Amino acid sequence: MSEASGPDVRGPRLPAPPHTLPASAIVAALDSDVEQGLTGAEAAARRQHFGPNRVQERRRRPLWRMFLAQLADFMILVLIAAALISGIIGSLVDTLAIVVIVLLNAVIGLVQEYRAEQAMAALKRMAAPGARVRRDGREHDVPAADLVPGDVVLLQAGNVPPADLRLVEAAALQIDESALTGESQPVQKSTAPLDDRDAPLGERANMAFKGTQVTRGRATGVVTATGMDTELGRIAALLQSGGQARTPLQQRLARFGRRLALAVLAICAVIFVAGLARGEPAGLMFLTAVSLAVAAIPEALPAVVTISLALGARKMARQHALIRHLPAVETLGSVTFICSDKTGTLTENRMRAEAFWAAGETLESLPSPGPEPWRTLGLAMALNNDTRPGEDGSLAGEPTELALAEAALAAGLERTRLEQSQPRTGELPFDAERKRMTTLHRDGDAVIAYTKGAPERILACCTRLLAADGERDLDSQAVLQQAERLAARGYRVLAFARRRLARLPEPLDASVERQLTLLGLVGLLDPPRAEAASAVELCRSAGITPVMVTGDHPATALAIARRLGLANDDTPVLTGRDLAGGAGASRWWTDTPAPVFARVSPTHKIDIVGALQRSGQYVAMTGDGVNDAPALKRADIGVAMGRKGTDVAREAADMVLLDDNFATIVAAVREGRRIYDNVRKFIKYTMTSNAGEIWTLFLAPFLGLPIPLLPIHILWINLVTDGLPGLALTAEPGDPDLMQRPPRPPREPIFAHGMWQHILWAGVLIGGLSIFAQAWALHSGSAHWQTIVFTVLTLSQLVHALAIRSESRSLWSVGLLSNAPLLGALALTLLLQLATIYVPWLNPVFHTDPLTAAELGFCLTLPWVVLLAVEAEKWLCRRGWIYQNAAQ
Ligand code: ATP
Repeated sequence: MSEASGPDVRGPRLPAPPHTLPASAIVAALDSDVEQGLTGAEAAARRQHFGPNRVQERRRRPLWRMFLAQLADFMILVLIAAALISGIIGSLVDTLAIVVIVLLNAVIGLVQEYRAEQAMAALKRMAAPGARVRRDGREHDVPAADLVPGDVVLLQAGNVPPADLRLVEAAALQIDESALTGESQPVQKSTAPLDDRDAPLGERANMAFKGTQVTRGRATGVVTATGMDTELGRIAALLQSGGQARTPLQQRLARFGRRLALAVLAICAVIFVAGLARGEPAGLMFLTAVSLAVAAIPEALPAVVTISLALGARKMARQHALIRHLPAVETLGSVTFICSDKTGTLTENRMRAEAFWAAGETLESLPSPGPEPWRTLGLAMALNNDTRPGEDGSLAGEPTELALAEAALAAGLERTRLEQSQPRTGELPFDAERKRMTTLHRDGDAVIAYTKGAPERILACCTRLLAADGERDLDSQAVLQQAERLAARGYRVLAFARRRLARLPEPLDASVERQLTLLGLVGLLDPPRAEAASAVELCRSAGITPVMVTGDHPATALAIARRLGLANDDTPVLTGRDLAGGAGASRWWTDTPAPVFARVSPTHKIDIVGALQRSGQYVAMTGDGVNDAPALKRADIGVAMGRKGTDVAREAADMVLLDDNFATIVAAVREGRRIYDNVRKFIKYTMTSNAGEIWTLFLAPFLGLPIPLLPIHILWINLVTDGLPGLALTAEPGDPDLMQRPPRPPREPIFAHGMWQHILWAGVLIGGLSIFAQAWALHSGSAHWQTIVFTVLTLSQLVHALAIRSESRSLWSVGLLSNAPLLGALALTLLLQLATIYVPWLNPVFHTDPLTAAELGFCLTLPWVVLLAVEAEKWLCRRGWIYQNAAQ
């Protein structure tokens, strides 16, 4: 930034710290122009010179380090060491085979982790902020990374300043700088230069710093520092120190995994001792025990959860739900309440002004040329308006503002032309708490203030009414009733008023909004989204209560809620005032049906979330404005709007709706439930497989049988079964009843609903089948008994994968062919297994023998017992005879 920044900084050279210079001097020093901005070519050249406007992130780990990390597990190191030692003493082929399998395992782990990282990086790119700049004399939206020193940036409430800016113009600008300075109160900003070169950041009132939050007003600023040269960049090292947080599920699994590892080690020790007691060679028994430990310790479980969540998040992004915090994927399935905004989320946010009321008369369009009071109402609509020329020449701006500007334009009233005689000289911008906005215009020697907003707020400031023959006394009640009638038809109603002043008030504050003259009312229609009604219904069937929380009028809210099936004749409407007044503020949720919340300010949203959470609900809450951020943070799943939402809301949210659509939240909940189910399936599959391997090796010596498997077999089974089929299970499409069940309690253990019981008995069954195969082969005098055990154990696990595709539905009703990746993985694994038996040069590596047709037939038949047993379990489950409350 300035020379005060130190010698290693590449920022632009400025004659003095920017807050000490007049804005014009900074603009000149940066060779820029406030009206025109930089040229596109100059911006590109500066981008080359200064680099992207990005605060450096922690460096990505190079691939080779990710690979080494896969091997850095203690048990794997022991295994490699043991294999090497026994190789040196005995057969080197064994050693090589073991090392190759361990490396293959590491490669599979690496590929998965890499995919997860890529998916996360892609999500991050999608969530990258943008900025509004003036270049080549026009306004553009560009990625914040493209900003360069000298760029002219436009800020408004809700923005996060994308770089450090010297303010050039500021209208009622307030910035929350707590992220940077710790000061929790927003700071009032201005443009005047300051004397103190060393003023602390919090006192540099003419600067806007990257990463802070504009809470009110609007401004124009010129970029003085980008990327690591910004104040935020300087403290970035501090911000980067926090490690990646684990999701609750990962934490639980990691804790569980540690306990299980100890148990597995103890079992391996028993197997080692039992083998020795039977007179097996010590070296072989040691390798066997270590191989089993490597195969059966579920150290990869937390990693698999990350991978499933990250890939799930990528899929959700394709469906327009951008996940900002990974745990949200996992917890979405627990949502019991969705509190949704109305405008743009449940409705299309395509407003049209369709009803106009002035002085007792209602029209469907604004008359042109209009007599009074229509003429002044039209003027107010055109002038008290924040639309701007868009990039393609059409108007751009908020839908409410657009609808009003278009209606005025249809009556021949164009803002830019009108502003030539009545230029804007001041404004009190719209804010959701005040629910109104005012603009001031010079009119000859005098000033006119136009105000628009929620009818009850405007009427409270009005004393007179404009009629055809001039001003007269106002009957507020009659106008309010008229507004109510329009609202009951589903219109968003705005009231317009005006006041003449002798001069521009100093300072400009809400006191100008007094003694106003009412001009009229305008009703805007915003049709409900076509897909919202069915999404509401889907919520209900999934045990989720959808609730509308809107800043709009109660009658408007109720009319739209009815159309969407969110309300019926008995639905109570609670307003912000009811909540504040304590009229059931914390009791309302026990009322059935759930209420519609109207005329709610963002601060009330926190109360609503709090009351719901206290009653044990798991709440998703939507929001778009700056003031919504605390409620989004407080909610279990904060949902921000990607299109109309502010940067501040997005930063506070767990999930961003790229299409602002309510139905997208419901689709994300479904996806969250599916992903959680599939993570459960994966855990069920690998843990049952591991249990089967342990039982096989554990039981044999006690039944007087020789050690059934060699280390290479154990590692192979672990590689081929955990690898492909396990991962393919996470591609399960999801049960059709996914949205017919109640939400999962957030604290429910992952092993609930009979999972641990399943792992126990199915593990015993698979182990038992292998031992049975061994006993049968030995009994019938087969020399290939070890190959038979090896094959039966592998194939039993593959059949098990098929059997657990659904928790309760039979494989036939799920459809054998409905998960192609799994079928492919199973077929490939089967082929690989056959290769270890029938490819001659693999026989010495795997210590296998080609099986006879009868033996192969036996190996291909026996594993189907697993399917029959699991189908029987699911049948009992469907009947409700088992696992009803098996949540512990
Ligand atoms: P929803 O929750 O349904 O999305 P909201 O809470 O975002 O709606 P706001 O946009 O905050 O609603 O509007 C609340 C009220 O403020 C509106 O009912 C309207 O009366 C008033 N209002 C909205 N937009 C403007 C505007 N541009 N100028 C003046 N008043 C407005």
